[in-house]
Amino acid sequence: MTEITSDGWPRPVHRVAFLFAMSAEGTGFARRLGLEDQGSLDSSLPAHWLKGRLAGSDGGSLEVAVGFAGTDPDHGVDRIGTVPAALAAHLLIRRFEPDLLVNAGTCGGFKVRGARVGSIYLGSKAFLFHDHRVPLPGFDAFGVGRIEADHPEELLEVMDAEPGVISTGDSFTPCAEELEFFEREGVHAKEMEAAAIARLARDHGLPFLAVKAVTDLVDHPEPEQEAFLRNLERVSASLGERLVRLLDWLGTRT
Ligand code: SAH
Repeated sequence: MTEITSDGWPRPVHRVAFLFAMSAEGTGFARRLGLEDQGSLDSSLPAHWLKGRLAGSDGGSLEVAVGFAGTDPDHGVDRIGTVPAALAAHLLIRRFEPDLLVNAGTCGGFKVRGARVGSIYLGSKAFLFHDHRVPLPGFDAFGVGRIEADHPEELLEVMDAEPGVISTGDSFTPCAEELEFFEREGVHAKEMEAAAIARLARDHGLPFLAVKAVTDLVDHPEPEQEAFLRNLERVSASLGERLVRLLDWLGTRT
């Protein structure tokens, strides 16, 4: 039986599920763990998953699932963004019944707040939506989300990560209003999935972590798109290495 500790984190974790938006972000990680392909998460959708069992340090074991939103059949690219991420996460939770859900991937960082390409952020304080502008009573706050973000303090050291406010939206390039939002809210990581998955994890009563590695700097003159494509592979490999450290840490608690 999984018990929930006073800090709200399950101990031990027996089943951890990772969700990636892009195949390039998580395929190397899944391969490195030797996970087996489980095929599609739903016969109507491109979302798919892999799973396997890892040995814990003191005789226990950890089951690991890795899910992807999959490739869009009409456009031939990864189904990035909030809707496919939440759908895939929901299906993965139903199939695998994890006791911890992790959204891992890449993000845009902010030089003014100390980010470098390769910096790793662990979502803390709150998950925000920067592109849900709904100026109606109640819906304005629902739009921004401000979904509670928390993590075991120890993980910052274990993963060599920094705590960061993560903000989600469905566009890659920011508009002026969004740039103002990032400053006002002190956003560290701008990406396209975490807040949607955080809300879903909350619906399921599941502990949730977001681990995001910086591929591009939003406030740096080099166009984000070029930096993103140049750094994607290298940064994803280093992200995978930090996720293995997370699994090792969870393995010592089985
Ligand atoms: N042209 C790219 C698409 C990358 S989209 C390609 O097809 O290779 C960006 C994806 O990486 C999203 O899943 C998002 O979560 C993350 N991401 C990385 N940097 C980002 C940024 N600066 N803004 C928004 N999302 C970013």
